[in-house]
Amino acid sequence: MPSVNLTVALAGNPNSGKTTIFNNITGSHQHVGNYPGVTVERREGFRRFEDKDLLLIDLPGTYSLTAHSLDEVVARSVIIDEKPDIIVNILDASNLERNLYLAVQLLELGRPVVLALNMTDVAEEMGLEVDESLLGHKLGTPIVRMIGNRNQGTEKLLKMVTTVAVEGHQQPFILNYGSEIELHIKHIIDALALLTEVKFPRRWLAIKLLEGDQDVNSAITLMPEGAAVLALVQKTWINLKTIVGDDLAIVIAECRYHFVSTVYREIVLTQSHQPQTTSDKIDHLLTHRIWGLPLFFAIMWLLFNIVFTIGAYPQEWIETGIGLLSDFVAEYMTDGDLKSLVIDGVFGGVGSVVSFLPNILLLFLGIALLEDTGYMARCAFVMDRVMRAVGLHGKSFIPLLIGFGCTVPAIMGTRTLENPRDRMVTILVSPLMSCSARLPVYLLLTSAFFQKYIAGTVMFSIYLLGILLAFTLAMFFRKTLFPGAAEPFVMEMPPYHFPTLRSILTHMWERSALYLKKAGTLILVASILVWFITNYPSEVPNGINFEQAKNQIEEYHDLEQQQGAMAQLEKEHAAEKLANSYAGRFGQLIEPAIRPLGFDWKIGVGLVSAVAAKEVLISTLGTIYSVGQAEDESTALQDALLGDPVFTPLVAYTLMVFTLIYSPCLAALAVIRRETNSWKWTFFTFGYSTVLAWILAFTTYQVGTLLGF
Ligand code: GDP
Ligand code: MG
Repeated sequence: MPSVNLTVALAGNPNSGKTTIFNNITGSHQHVGNYPGVTVERREGFRRFEDKDLLLIDLPGTYSLTAHSLDEVVARSVIIDEKPDIIVNILDASNLERNLYLAVQLLELGRPVVLALNMTDVAEEMGLEVDESLLGHKLGTPIVRMIGNRNQGTEKLLKMVTTVAVEGHQQPFILNYGSEIELHIKHIIDALALLTEVKFPRRWLAIKLLEGDQDVNSAITLMPEGAAVLALVQKTWINLKTIVGDDLAIVIAECRYHFVSTVYREIVLTQSHQPQTTSDKIDHLLTHRIWGLPLFFAIMWLLFNIVFTIGAYPQEWIETGIGLLSDFVAEYMTDGDLKSLVIDGVFGGVGSVVSFLPNILLLFLGIALLEDTGYMARCAFVMDRVMRAVGLHGKSFIPLLIGFGCTVPAIMGTRTLENPRDRMVTILVSPLMSCSARLPVYLLLTSAFFQKYIAGTVMFSIYLLGILLAFTLAMFFRKTLFPGAAEPFVMEMPPYHFPTLRSILTHMWERSALYLKKAGTLILVASILVWFITNYPSEVPNGINFEQAKNQIEEYHDLEQQQGAMAQLEKEHAAEKLANSYAGRFGQLIEPAIRPLGFDWKIGVGLVSAVAAKEVLISTLGTIYSVGQAEDESTALQDALLGDPVFTPLVAYTLMVFTLIYSPCLAALAVIRRETNSWKWTFFTFGYSTVLAWILAFTTYQVGTLLGF
């Protein structure tokens, strides 16, 4: 092992070309091990350059140094504990803004940094022109232009590294967090000056403490007199809370983003003199300033109409099939609770949900096409102006679009948003994008209560309402709960391409499997529970004496009259039992709250149970209506709804509005909890959506009634 004069750590985002440059520098003089105590790979290499022996360390790739992941902790502790003489920060020039976010944090650590602007060939191809000397000047660091995979710039980088290391001394980098926060940073730095054994730069420590960094916090706790500093930090949090809002970590990250995006806008020139490709021509139309938005809505309208019209045929076949199967099974079962459970609970409940599988598949086919062809990225671009107007980033639109499929992946998709405020707001509003579980509810109600030619448009209007609400609320939340500047739009546009049949089929297969699995598990359990609460208690106190009434009817001479009276009796008896069941009693308890919306207790029970999953609204209504029917009569749920005087087209529409807006399902709530790491925001989402649903459903129903619908 040669004696080392200089230790050089390579830091950078994943895929910025660190390993490539590391290999360029060290050739075969490498050693791979692990960082002590953790299983993260540690790659070291040697290089003799001029009269110096260099030890190079390839740090794990990270996007930031906030200690959110193991890689980040490792990268930052190497820099702090091992004090490399110099850090080389490899920047991906084609994705510079995000890369600069890490650069700023490295600079804040106060160690000497050299910037290696890599991937300059890719940036050039994209039409991005980076003024690297201006960038170096803005950040106060030397910078080299490189193309790693062609080994360009390596010598120059080494030259700069050795020069900077020898001359040492770099102007300190200080990011200004605004007068309020700066004042408090100063106080904490003063308090930190009393601690003896600090190996971190004090300003950095102060900022990390304000950010609530766990690692730094416990390091300070261990120090003598650390308690005084932590007490000051606590006090500062309370002081600043009234001025900057509740989460200081977000405010601080926001300041960094703001700084980075300002620098980025100054140093990057976008040029667009490349020849027009077909992709460009299509783009020109689809991302047109004026036509882009109407085209987007036209495409969505078309999609929902296709889902409605084409999907209706196989949906009917499946429904008929399930009806036949149900009748067949009924014939071979003896009357009793088990038969009722199977026929009313399983066939009535699960069956009504399963029949919508074709529509769900069509919807996912549409979404997969939009995604795979590259149109979704254009949507984000087209929507950027709208999104910016509401204070969000165009990129937020992609998770929202995914929300048409399912809210769970939509919320996870917000991880691609760098700005934590954008992310929070996007999470809060994403349940308003109508997920595929709500589709069967709309399909059932629109096809029952609206003419065929208009049904697709009625359904589209609900989706549109969801989008409008999501935007309006995003604007509101961004202004009130998470104020701060919006980020500029930087996103790569993938070229258009024909999606492969294979990828589309795989996608649809996965979706059907998931849907059927959900029907066979969650919805099955919910249906059985609903069956139970709609059938018990089975004794009706002071009810019709069924046996006695039956005997009376059997004495009728006119056979036709006898049959009629019998059917009437059975119907009344079933209805009475249902109203007296647990579900009926519970429904009647909550009915006053939903009567102003035109809903009765059955809808109420459906809505409450559908918090488990929105399709459960259908399976519950399916079970309730089958239980409420006289025996041996299997009508499709759609016809049962049509026969119920409570339902009118207006009530159906109001119910769609309510279903769209009210509480996300349990799975979505769980993901919100996980991704925001906060019960507060989870309950907030539940609360605001349910209250808003009530208000808008109330308005819809009352205004609709006034207008005479
Ligand atoms: P790391 O994750 O930061 O270690 O990145 P790698 O060194 O593994 O590089 C990721 C990919 O980018 C590899 O396929 C490299 O060949 C490629 N690459 C590295 N530098 C450049 C460059 O300057 N231009 C181009 N076009 N590709 C590069
Ligand atoms: Mg690597």
